[in-house]
Parts: sequence; structure tokens; C-alpha cells
Amino acid sequence: MHSSLGPYALAIVVIGLLVAAIAWARRRHAQRDAMDAPLSPSAKKTLAEEVAYYQRLSPEEKVRFEREVKRFLFDQLITGPRGREVSEELKVLVAASAVMLVFGRKGYVYARTRDIVIYDEAFDHDYVEGTDKNVLGMVHGAGPILFSARALRQGFANTRDGLNVGLHEFAHVLDFHAGDADGVPSLVPWRSVAPWMAQIQRETDRIEAHRSVLRDYGATNEAELFAVATEAFFERPKALADKHPKLYAMLVEAYGQDPAKSP
Ligand SMILES: [Zn+2]
Repeated sequence: MHSSLGPYALAIVVIGLLVAAIAWARRRHAQRDAMDAPLSPSAKKTLAEEVAYYQRLSPEEKVRFEREVKRFLFDQLITGPRGREVSEELKVLVAASAVMLVFGRKGYVYARTRDIVIYDEAFDHDYVEGTDKNVLGMVHGAGPILFSARALRQGFANTRDGLNVGLHEFAHVLDFHAGDADGVPSLVPWRSVAPWMAQIQRETDRIEAHRSVLRDYGATNEAELFAVATEAFFERPKALADKHPKLYAMLVEAYGQDPAKSP
């Protein structure tokens, strides 16, 4: 049977749409205001003093990097355990890790799908914190992203050792799609997925044969291989380009940047 909307029902629908449109416009406006304000001087100081990647950027790129850090901090919720407040410095280091990975992919925006929790020390797989624990960062398909503050700072303090928990965990974030991580990030075009997977296998074999610049942990599984390769790509790009040219070229394509060429 055919039924039509009466004028009364139509008015309710129109008013409903109007209210939703106004709420949306207000939110957009608040968002724009927050985004237009410059990054705070203390946050810029953290980037200038602790983030070597930022230090090497041109003045124009620095402005874009600051903007992307600001956007990330606006979009994501970063706290300590049980919602405790964490310092701006730590939040900026988390944001800088995330932004570094996608800085060559202009317009890439991380979905806000999970909370980011920073512990002071390391923790274990039951999220129990302590100096005797050994997990420095963790990310699941759906749960929060976890970091140890100490490991996060160490990652930025030593930029040549191929260890940066911030880069490592956000590499996993880029790799998670459809609830699973398989070592092939969503940045890889579909035509490159098969060669990418074959290369991941070859690189795993090389670690096992002790003929790799990647650290051994990369041989754990495909997802760890990609995360460990990402750390090396940003922290030991020349060694990676020299000894693993195929892997390096694939990472250049995925990340849209070539760190071996930066000074
Ligand atoms: Zn990992």
C-alpha cells in the first residue's frame, strides 16, 4: 500500500534536518577556530628540541608539520592510565611519531578509533606497570594504543639506533585494516600488495640468516617486520637503502618520502 508523508510529519523531518545542520556547522566552526590558532610555544619548543625529523625540515614544512601535530592532538584523546592527565611534551612526541609516518602523504588523517594511553614505565600484557615489565608499546585491532613514556623519550633521544616505539606502534596502526595486521599497510596500492608480501617474506628470511640491518624482532611475524622496517627507514635510511634497496624503494613509495636523501 502506498502512503505519503503528511505535512505535519514533513515539518518534523525538515526541522530535524535543520537542527542537525546547525549542530554540524557549529562543530565545524569550533574545529576551524581551534585549528587556526597556532601550536603553543611550549609544544613548538618540544618539536625544536626533541624531534630531529622536525629540525631538518624547511621553514614551510615546519609550519605544515606543526599544523598536522595540532590536528592530531585535536582529533585524538591522549591520557595516562585511568584517564590521568599527561604532559604536553609526551602528547607532542606521540603526535610527532604519527605525523612523521604520513608527512609524505599530504591530507592523510588518522581515524579516531581508539584512545592513546601513556604509562610512565613499561608494562606487561595485563597492562600492569612496573620497571621490571618489558612491553614498551602496544596496539591491538580495536583497543587503545599504549606507550611507555620512558621508551617514547628514548626513541627520540637516539635517532640512529633503529628503535622508536612511537614510529613502531603507528606503523602497526597503519597496518591494521579489517581488524588484522598483515605487514601490508593501507598506504600500499593494491597492485603492489603481492610483491610487497613476497618481499616481507624475503626480509624475514634475511633476519633469520643474520644478513639484515633490521633488528631480530622483525622476524616475529609480518606485522613486526613492517614495524621494524619502518623504524629502520626513518632512523637508518642510508643503511637500509644500501643493503635492502628493494624494501627501501617499497617504503619510499608507501610513505611518499625518501629520508636517505635528507641531510
Ligand atoms: Zn610491534
